[in-house]
Amino acid sequence: MRLVIMGPQGVGKGTQAELLSKHYGIPHISTGDIFRQNLKNDTELGREAKRYTDKGELVPDELTDRIVADRLAQADAKDGWILDGYPRNAEQVEALDGLLEREGETLNSVVALDADCEVLMDRMSRRAQSEGRDDDTPEAIEVRLKTYEEQTAPLLGTYRDRGELLSFDGTGDIDEISQGIIEKLDAARQ
Ligand code: AMP
Repeated sequence: MRLVIMGPQGVGKGTQAELLSKHYGIPHISTGDIFRQNLKNDTELGREAKRYTDKGELVPDELTDRIVADRLAQADAKDGWILDGYPRNAEQVEALDGLLEREGETLNSVVALDADCEVLMDRMSRRAQSEGRDDDTPEAIEVRLKTYEEQTAPLLGTYRDRGELLSFDGTGDIDEISQGIIEKLDAARQ
């Protein structure tokens, strides 16, 4: 199963990706987590990414595409994966298309989650308090929301046109949402 999960910040992408990862036995690959892990370990990649992540801006495509290609080439990702936070713009969609084509693979589905703006803002401020992420400053959150609207949300149309998009409401009980996603994914696989 090869999946992309998309949606605005605070919609619960990470939580649902984790549940899908467990259910299908595929690695949950979050580009944001990869950057944060590198930052924690003070690697060169982490230091380079921090220049952008701190401000809520996208890390340059060239760097991001490379870390995704490297991660997908690892043994545990041979039979599937769920990508969370990638692709985030049209160039990254192309990069992922190219990567899949070279490997002779196809994407199963793009899972899109959405929720009202109020719910998202509320979850974001609660996450900022509980997790204390460096990039959860009001300024960075605003830039991320704007970047999502301008560059990432249009990709939903791209995947809808390809017939790969499955959309879900991200508000409500976590397990019920997950169950709904799994049912649709399994039906789409038939
Ligand atoms: P996230 O955890 O997905 O919110 O990502 C945290 C930050 O990492 C983002 O605000 C970006 O600076 C960076 N990032 C994550 N994924 C990408 C991506 N696909 N392209 C560029 N930058 C990314």
